[in-house]
Amino acid sequence: MIQCPSCGRRQGPRLTCEDCGAPLGAELDGFAAFSLPRKLVLDTSALERVYHELSRQIHPDRFAQGSAPVRDASLRSTALLTRSYRTLRDPIARGHYWLELRGEKLADNNKTVPPDLAELVFEVQDELSELREAGSERLRERTRARRRELDDASNSLQRDLAQNFERWDAGGDPKQLSVELKAVLSKLAYLRTLTRDVDRELENLRAA
Ligand SMILES: [Zn+2]
Repeated sequence: MIQCPSCGRRQGPRLTCEDCGAPLGAELDGFAAFSLPRKLVLDTSALERVYHELSRQIHPDRFAQGSAPVRDASLRSTALLTRSYRTLRDPIARGHYWLELRGEKLADNNKTVPPDLAELVFEVQDELSELREAGSERLRERTRARRRELDDASNSLQRDLAQNFERWDAGGDPKQLSVELKAVLSKLAYLRTLTRDVDRELENLRAA
């Protein structure tokens, strides 16, 4: 139980007081900050709407005249809400956060190139070094086509991610889903790096 620094009401941990609506400054996970059940499929436009409503409700400007504990609660709840919003609105960040909440981390998994991407990574890096050396229009066009291919691959992985989320919510096997989730997130991370490399090379050529 925690006590509301504004009205003194004792209650379970939540973002705002159930009586007076003031921020409580409680430590909560991202889902609890939004009073959401722990489900991975989220309506992000509803999330955005609630985020703006709650931000206004707990904003430090509204509590500038309050006691130190009230102002402190407002600052802490605002930081928590913003952090939770940024995490939950983005499916990739949400997936990583989900693993974190389960005490699982991707880091150890993420050092080797995912096997089914290894060939692609190798080819793209090869093409980029050719492009760096020659920089002909033909090679540029090949790299631009690669860029579109990487986008398609990333979109397809995002669909896999959405399906994985649905299966978690439907009560699928956590062990298997966790392995799948890590694999998809790891591939997305590699694609993101690769896409950044491609963009940088194309940008360098434009600047040259
Ligand atoms: Zn209160």
